[in-house]
Amino acid sequence: MLQKLLHLTSRRTGRGLSSTALQGERICIVGAGPAGFYAAQLLLKQLENCRVDIVEKLPVPFGLVRFGVAPDHPEVKNVINTFTKTAEHPRLRFFGNVSLGKDISLSELRERYHAVLLTYGADQDRQLEVANEEQAHVISARKFVAWYNGLPGAENLQPDLSGRDVTIVGQGNVAVDVARMLLSPIDRLKVTDTTEYALEALSRSQVERVHLVGRRGPLQAAFTIKELREMLKLPNVKTQWRIQDFEGIAAQVDKLPRPRKRLTELMLKSLEEQKSSSDREKHFLPVFLRAPKQIEKSEMEFSVTELQQNSAVATDQTERLPAHLILRSIGYKSSQADKDINFDDRRGHVKNIDGRVLKSNGSDEVDAGLYVAGWLGTGPTGVILTTMNTAFAVAKTISEDIKNQIFDTKSIKPGLQVEELPQTVTWKHWQRIDSHEQKLGQAKGKPREKIVSIDEMLKVAGI
Ligand SMILES: Cc1cc2nc3c(=O)[nH]c(=O)nc-3n(C[C@H](O)[C@H](O)[C@H](O)COP(=O)(O)OP(=O)(O)OC[C@H]3O[C@@H](n4cnc5c(N)ncnc54)[C@H](O)[C@@H]3O)c2cc1C
Repeated sequence: MLQKLLHLTSRRTGRGLSSTALQGERICIVGAGPAGFYAAQLLLKQLENCRVDIVEKLPVPFGLVRFGVAPDHPEVKNVINTFTKTAEHPRLRFFGNVSLGKDISLSELRERYHAVLLTYGADQDRQLEVANEEQAHVISARKFVAWYNGLPGAENLQPDLSGRDVTIVGQGNVAVDVARMLLSPIDRLKVTDTTEYALEALSRSQVERVHLVGRRGPLQAAFTIKELREMLKLPNVKTQWRIQDFEGIAAQVDKLPRPRKRLTELMLKSLEEQKSSSDREKHFLPVFLRAPKQIEKSEMEFSVTELQQNSAVATDQTERLPAHLILRSIGYKSSQADKDINFDDRRGHVKNIDGRVLKSNGSDEVDAGLYVAGWLGTGPTGVILTTMNTAFAVAKTISEDIKNQIFDTKSIKPGLQVEELPQTVTWKHWQRIDSHEQKLGQAKGKPREKIVSIDEMLKVAGI
């Protein structure tokens, strides 16, 4: 993919590859999310001569910290300060607006670097696999999150917020984030970096009731206590549990491990309080033991389930819930960015053992010099801290493999050159975009107003 461009550049500048190459291990990281930055941080620390290039599809860094984490969780985004320090390290370069599989292939990267670490995350979502899922009023939580967070290309989603009832299928923290965004008073969101078009749509929203539906029971709920607490504190929103979902639950609390025990106690306390609390304008309605069956125009049909050894098993009974808009929130999934990546389609991640990517020949043999970390390697679960731990572990593995000379690091490798990819957004370019966004935000009392169009990002960057 890069060959033509490279040839022209060498002729134009009169420079061969070797003149740009220096000693030391060259490592390319694909993806500028938490996994990429944390791995870079450790590699730079452990290998004193290595040079790290981060290749990122978008002109802007930070992955899901910018495009996933909810705008009303600014404290979570503080990790950006650590990532910025890493990006400013003299042995690190940022190549934004360069996409693996489109602008550059994996084989080209492997020719130019001693080691390649894939950390390009998960950009797809899992399907419910029920009838009528393709209808217009069914959208994925991933797209909805991308919409309010300003991911380029998501701005035209136009979710229909004109009905009273929304049903979210899934009970993880992403589902709770989405419910909170739908039920929050608009003034609470106006001071966040929620995109302007989303604020405008949310301020006209008629949504009053959000159902959060899960296949299993309260003891298996996937949301965590912090997210539930926040929901319970939302002004003007009444959380209403179903009493029948909690039959026999109180008797089991003492036997639960600590985090689950605290979460269950909070649910039981809230259930108790709902009897006496006054009604509010909006409702958050968790519904347990229901599995999606089919979708209709403004309703969704669920099978009533029973728990058998912790698994939800559908019974003959069904229930319909009103659903003007349906949000599918049952998990993200990675994709195969390049044909040479050994990708597990069923599981939706790159085949690997502890971060070492396996050869495509079906064996358990590792492809020396090729690694994976973050959601692309582990599957799309875990918070930033989890991602940090796994990325550190893979970076440590890379350092050890280099020290043990598991693959060649003696030959000279050229790395990428910015001149070869003329639309590359360097870290300096990103800093221009960053300060422009912050200035735009300041005028509106927001931490930043995100630029959504890639053309505009490049213009602001001066490219
Ligand atoms: C909606 C949502 C909310 C969340 N909220 C929280 C929270 O509040 N707190 C918390 O701790 N965790 C939260 N998480 C989890 C956290 O975001 C993840 O743990 C973390 O982002 C995973 O990091 P990653 O680097 O593997 O992937 P990502 O963050 O997805 O980064 C991958 C990067 O690779 C880039 N990329 C993709 N394709 C290519 C390509 N072909 N070429 C080059 N680059 C590419 C992407 O643009 C992206 O920048 C949330 C997750 C989601 C989905």
